Amino acid sequence: MLKKVQSVCNYCALDCNLDFYVDTESGRIVKTVPVKDYPVNKGFCCIKGLSLSKQQTTVKPDSLPKIRQEDGSFRTVSWEDGFAHVAGKIQELQTKYGRESVAGISTGQLTLEEFALYGHVMRNFLHTNVDGNTRLCMATAAVAHKQSFGFDAPGYTLKDLELSDTIVFIGANPVVSHPILWGRVRENRIPGHKVIVLDPRRSETARNADYWYGLKWRSDLLLLYTVAHQLMERDWVDHAFVDAHTEGFEAFRDFLEPYTLARGAEGTGLTETQILELTELIHTGKKVSFWWTMGVNQGYEAVRTAQAVINLALMTGNIGKPGTGANSITGQCNAMASRVFSNTTMLLGGGEFADPVRRRRLSRVLGVPEDMLAEKPTLPYDRIIEGIRKGEIKGLWILCTNPRHSWTNNETFAEAVKKLELFVVQDIYDTIESAEDCTVFFPVVPGLKKEGTYINLERRLSAMRPVLSKGENERSDYEVILGVGRALGMGDALKGWETPRDCFDLLRECSRGMPEEFTGVTWEALENSQGRQWPWPEGKEAELAEPERRLYGDGVFFTPSGRAKFIFEEVRPNPMPQTEEFPFVFNTGRGTVGQWHTQSRTKEVRFVEDVSLKKPYLYMNSQVAARYNIHYMDRIRVFSINGQNAVFHVKITDDVQPGELYAPLHYIECNRLTPSSYDPYSREPNYKGAVVRFEKCEEGEDCV
Ligand code: SF4
Repeated sequence: MLKKVQSVCNYCALDCNLDFYVDTESGRIVKTVPVKDYPVNKGFCCIKGLSLSKQQTTVKPDSLPKIRQEDGSFRTVSWEDGFAHVAGKIQELQTKYGRESVAGISTGQLTLEEFALYGHVMRNFLHTNVDGNTRLCMATAAVAHKQSFGFDAPGYTLKDLELSDTIVFIGANPVVSHPILWGRVRENRIPGHKVIVLDPRRSETARNADYWYGLKWRSDLLLLYTVAHQLMERDWVDHAFVDAHTEGFEAFRDFLEPYTLARGAEGTGLTETQILELTELIHTGKKVSFWWTMGVNQGYEAVRTAQAVINLALMTGNIGKPGTGANSITGQCNAMASRVFSNTTMLLGGGEFADPVRRRRLSRVLGVPEDMLAEKPTLPYDRIIEGIRKGEIKGLWILCTNPRHSWTNNETFAEAVKKLELFVVQDIYDTIESAEDCTVFFPVVPGLKKEGTYINLERRLSAMRPVLSKGENERSDYEVILGVGRALGMGDALKGWETPRDCFDLLRECSRGMPEEFTGVTWEALENSQGRQWPWPEGKEAELAEPERRLYGDGVFFTPSGRAKFIFEEVRPNPMPQTEEFPFVFNTGRGTVGQWHTQSRTKEVRFVEDVSLKKPYLYMNSQVAARYNIHYMDRIRVFSINGQNAVFHVKITDDVQPGELYAPLHYIECNRLTPSSYDPYSREPNYKGAVVRFEKCEEGEDCV
């Protein structure tokens, strides 16, 4: 007999829903079918979602925790002993070195409930610092939203891609990174609609677009200000919208004066004609939508660049209406939940740590004294690593993330963790690079065996439900965090957190009165549903029936004045420009649709293994290749400004500019070369900021 379970794909931020068919006799998944009437993926999904069932064979079943012995070997222990060991060690470190001598790093891959519980244990009870790998991708968008809109609230719905007559992608490559989102572009039936791409690289999306503007590396902010200036000069401004719903417009107009067409052309490498063409396309569009992702988020002036996109939408009145918006495309499946419910940069469910009203309310909802609640935002990721390096942080607990591979300038992580007295790695695989130096390994089950809630890029909550049952020794992330919390002696502070479902109810209450309120969503209602986009307050169900809803339709934002803010700042000189010694830009991004981040999971998918390279590679412009006598799949050693080097195979293309090399990020060598440099507001790494030189490896040379 076959049992059907609807659950969520926990790779990217689309959160496609899938029907898993399980043979009840063997307990195996025999078929995976994308849900037809789910408003996100509408019966489609990508190879990653279709291959999720592989984890039923690749993840070791029934594993127990492992603790490293003095001789370096591991001892397998019971879960209770594992919890007691970690709790005891945390307490020992905090007693000896202070509360902040222990820290955590989580991920945008956990469930909503797991983020919240981890934030409760680590931030409220232990008063430690916890950041997430959301810092590596969405921190910029979160800060930009908070400053410009008053809350981290992306307003769009995916339907806007079908309703927009002018779709502008900035530093985004959805054909590879978010294929289902690109599918929605292909569903656009507006006659004469245009797709425009701003990207130094002629990406897969650029190749499928109507217009590609191949600007110079890191000249995006200058281009956006130049376009804004041109719109101002021609008075192509929606004054009615600007007057009624924004603030700071006059100052923005004055600020733009020096951003002349000539300066823009010189700085971006585009012609004046191209910049004017782009300006006119934005002006003539009736429903213009702007979409950005990592090309914007991972830069040294990233927040201001994201806000320059927002400014364009505000000044042209392209926000809050169907087919419009300044829309950030989120990376990981549950980054949206992490941003609001991880208790890291804001209180659980939103609000400032110092806000007495919010503290009182949360203390009541959670049933803990106010002074137990975290008092300040966490140290960001880079400062946690720096703290370890300096010997101030002695204990680290990481969940479902692989920073040895994904952290920028990743050798600094490898060096730092050797100093730790406690290094807990919790993951479904003990083979990830980050587990090499761990002192404790907690094996957890994959999403196929978990229950919880995911929030996608358009604020849609959906239900993850167990497709397969857990074995006797198997534990979910939620159960492991709860186990450590109990071993720490949290007692009544864990009342109401007993199961993910209990936690969901607590979080509903935490959300009451906040922009992301979902008090009208119940655990049961999410099951087998079309999901629910926040806000979804109770008692308003009838008004919320529309399956795809956007924010800001009333022109009211979450700032104290209710108006969106124009925020801007002078373009800054690149802190790491190309030099004679390092003449090439080292750009990074996704490789193929089938590969996910550090490949912990996707390298086990046979289809992906068959079509992707096992060795690190990069793309080089054909003129450069000819100049250096480099042929397809020759090897080069790339030397980065950060002092590291690595060997890559070369693919030759004219899709990258002559001064640029482009390396897929799925290989550990890639982030060996990326710099320790950050946006000052979001502390998101400037991943796309390295400059490099290279030498060709000669045939027969031992060049590894
Ligand atoms: S990876 Fe993203 S696009 Fe692919 S199936 Fe999963 S959620 Fe959908």
